[in-house]
Formats: sequence, structure tokens, C-alpha cells
Amino acid sequence: MAPLVLRTVAETAAWAESIRRSGRRLALVPTMGYLHDGHLSLMREGRNRADVVAASIFVNPTQFGPSEDLSRYPRDMTGDLAKCASVGVEVVFAPEPAEVYPPGFQTYVDVEKVSQGLCGARRPGHFRGVATVVTKLLCLFKPHVALFGEKDYQQLQVIRALERDLNLGVEIVGMPTLREADGLAMSSRNAYLSPEDRKRALALSRGLSAARALCEGGTREAQALVGVVRRELEAAGLREDYVELMDATSLTPLSAVTPGQPARLLVAAFVGTTRLIDNQPIGA
Ligand code: AMP
Repeated sequence: MAPLVLRTVAETAAWAESIRRSGRRLALVPTMGYLHDGHLSLMREGRNRADVVAASIFVNPTQFGPSEDLSRYPRDMTGDLAKCASVGVEVVFAPEPAEVYPPGFQTYVDVEKVSQGLCGARRPGHFRGVATVVTKLLCLFKPHVALFGEKDYQQLQVIRALERDLNLGVEIVGMPTLREADGLAMSSRNAYLSPEDRKRALALSRGLSAARALCEGGTREAQALVGVVRRELEAAGLREDYVELMDATSLTPLSAVTPGQPARLLVAAFVGTTRLIDNQPIGA
């Protein structure tokens, strides 16, 4: 069945309240739309963990920098609603920006430490926008569970922190990255890639896999593991934004992988003008 599309905060609050009052468990999957199988995997898991699944489709202006791709971000509401229906999403919240940020809006959520490095350092204000919209969505729906992808690994840690720090009482579930058959992490931004760039983009996942293999072979130093990813990016002619080995929870830099300390290798690179990110656990 086609999902019910809600455009206003008032309707959405009333709908979510009616679900909770009926004693049913509610799952929420926030997205920016142009849905792919990665998004749908979150929605399917929502169905496993709750009685009713809602999604939001909102290209959130506050998380885009002035020179970023807000105006050309891909959109396909008709296709998205059909995909939501195919995985049993009952409600889609798809507001206009003015509904989320009405005149006089002045309250933002800043998650401090975990927002600082990686994408936070390269995209000033990005995680402030993410944390603000996700907090608003969690407060609006008051879901029992909300699902997010490890594809946006730093974002997931930011959301875990804000949920904990603000006592929101929502179970935050992180889901593994879905990949194309050749390893490319699924992303709405892959739609920007020319066939030639699509091939070159494989350097991100190839580099991460090569670093993991090196680590499994006994190489533990960050410099060597990061170096392997850099070489893949260079060989494909991609411009590195960052390649970093981090503690998997705090996202502080590590000089080496050590047994018993979960680590994550994270990469961001430009394929032409398209910025892509990817990450993998390493050494655990
Ligand atoms: P977005 O629409 O890009 O804001 O993503 C919405 C949600 O889907 C976020 O929690 C993302 O981390 C998640 N997501 C995006 N790509 C993938 C993927 N390839 N696999 C799993 N989850 C994903």
C-alpha cells in the first residue's frame, strides 16, 4: 500500500501519538530521499524491530555548506514513495524547509567532540545541521527505535551522542553499509558519476579492503594502513579529502591498530567534483 505522506509537523505529531497510544512500537528512518537499497535495508530492519515504520524524506538545508550541492541534490519523490511501499513503510514525512525551519527558528544542536575531525573539519556546520534536524525528528516522532547507516559513520556517532546526552530515550541502531556488487558503497550521490568516474570511484572501497588485508597480515601502523588507501586514490586520479585511522567510538586518531581497541579506517575523496565517503572496521 502507498505510504501516507505527511507534510506538516502538526499532522505528524498527531499521527505518531496515535501509534504510540495504540501500544504499537514505532521505528523511524530519516533520509534525504533518492532512495537506494541501503536506505531500504534500514526500513526492512525497522519492520523487524517495530510494528510500524515511518521514514522522513527531507533534503536538510542546514547541513549543506554554501558551496555544496543542496540545489542539485537528486530528488525523485514518486520513485521514493513506491520504494517505501515495497518495504512496508506506512508514513513518509516530507516537509518543505519552512515547515522545519519557520521564521524565528533559532535553536541548534551542537555535538562537540565527535563532530570535530573528519567530515566535521572539512564541512564546517555540517554536523550542527545534521544533529539539529535529527533531534527535531526524534522529538517529533518519539519513535522507540531509529535506524541509521554506518556508511555515514561519523554521523552515526554524532547521533548516538546527542541521543545519550539529551536523554531522548530512543534506541539508535547502526546498520552495515550496503555495497554494489563491485564494492562501491551505495549513495544517492553516486548518481552524479559519469561511467568513467563510476569506475574510478572504486578506489575508495578497494583501498579500504587492501588496508584491511594488510592489517590482517600483521601491519598495524596507521601510516602504513593509510598509505595503502592513499596509493589507491592516487592511482585512480582521485583527490583525497582525508584518510584516517580512528578509535571506532570516540573518533580520535590512532597511531596504530591495537588488539582489544575497535578501530575504523575512514576515507573521503573527490571523484571529479563529487565528494564520496566510505569506511570499514579494521583489526577487530
Ligand atoms: P541519506 O539519505 O544519504 O541522508 O541517508 C539516510 C540514511 O541511510 C543514513 O542513516 C545513511 O547512513 C543511510 N545510508 C546511506 N547509504 C547507505 C548504504 N550504502 N548502506 C546502508 N545505509 C546507508
